[in-house]
Amino acid sequence: MAVGLLGTLARLPAQDPAALAKTYGLAIQKVNEEHARRPGKTKEEDLAKKLPKASRAALDRLLAMKDSPQLLDALVACGEAALDLDLVEDFEKATGRLAKSSPTHAEKLGIALSKPRALLRGLGGVQPSYLEEFGAVLEAVFSGYDEVFGFEEWSKVPGKKIRVRLHVEKDESKPPHFAPQFAFHSEIDFPIQDGSSFRSPTAKGKMYFFGLCHELGHLIAMWGNNTKPHDDDHHAWADYTGYVIVEHLSKKDLPALKNMADVRWRSLAKEKERLGEAKPGLESRDGVMALLIALHESVGPKALGDAMNLLDRQNKRLRIKHVRYYTFRELREGLVAVVKEKKAKEAVVGLIPAGK
Ligand SMILES: [Zn+2]
Repeated sequence: MAVGLLGTLARLPAQDPAALAKTYGLAIQKVNEEHARRPGKTKEEDLAKKLPKASRAALDRLLAMKDSPQLLDALVACGEAALDLDLVEDFEKATGRLAKSSPTHAEKLGIALSKPRALLRGLGGVQPSYLEEFGAVLEAVFSGYDEVFGFEEWSKVPGKKIRVRLHVEKDESKPPHFAPQFAFHSEIDFPIQDGSSFRSPTAKGKMYFFGLCHELGHLIAMWGNNTKPHDDDHHAWADYTGYVIVEHLSKKDLPALKNMADVRWRSLAKEKERLGEAKPGLESRDGVMALLIALHESVGPKALGDAMNLLDRQNKRLRIKHVRYYTFRELREGLVAVVKEKKAKEAVVGLIPAGK
């Protein structure tokens, strides 16, 4: 160890596990706060390099200590903090030690898997193989979104990976949902009943593959504003992107998706059949769905993606805790700006009412 590093270690509070965990956690928080203020083009892997070595060494100090209740809690706190910066190596140092010292504490942290665009976490008995399978499906879903819509930025704080929190739950009534409340990243909360093998539909008929595609729709865009929440819009939008992606990917015969069979029940084609003669409009969930499908067919999903990327670059939309909220009036403006063909432009202004 270099003398300089020993010097900085000596300045850390002596042998107080809680203080060391705080040093580690606050350093991570600071890096994230600075990034959120000015994200630029920085990616999460670059952020990890900004963490001061001395702060990171607080974890090594903890790992060198003897077991005590304070130490176990401090390691749990460090494991949690490590995930806020995608430091899976540190997370695994903490879980590895806890697995030997106190499996109950290790269970609080669970397991983690870092993928290029997401950090997956498994709790409550999710198996590493499940995370691997889920991660491969998620990457395929991201490529599907790239190919169809081309959204440029996924996480609400640019550059940060999205998080997926998978946890085994006995209660089957809890569906996956987009959890917008975290300060520095977008997260999908994903309760499952069986953490051994990822297949969809499950033995009990749960369509997790469609569910994942749907939740990513929420994550990319929420709708409405402070005074007028558009709940119909939220779910029709996420259903729409979900159907499109399931249908698109199911044509491709990807090995990662061999256990995903949702397209038999969930697709744009099926949804059109269900909608029948429903008229495009903004007043009901079916109206919004019919509107989105009409746009899909007249201007295409790439134009929707381009319009939303443009709105993001202009950065005029409402953000609540960094989460992007769009309105159909803005989408109309965005589409008019990106769509070149006269007929397609006319379709946009004909379909989306002005002023909403
Ligand atoms: Zn939803």
